[in-house]
Amino acid sequence: MDFFGAETEEQFVEAISGQVYDSVQDCFCTECGYYFGEGEPDLRGITCPECGKPAVEALEEILISGL
Ligand SMILES: [Zn+2]
Repeated sequence: MDFFGAETEEQFVEAISGQVYDSVQDCFCTECGYYFGEGEPDLRGITCPECGKPAVEALEEILISGL
């Protein structure tokens, strides 16, 4: 095993699942809490289908902005 610098199968699986996790994030509306689904980690400013405000952000963006 020499992928992603992993020395054991466990580290390899961890590296892979880490990449998968980084590619999509759960996205929520910061106004009404509507669960938008999965999207790009830097997704933000998407119009919420529930309340109509451009407040849908990826979880990572929400955590960064401290809401
Ligand atoms: Zn909303």
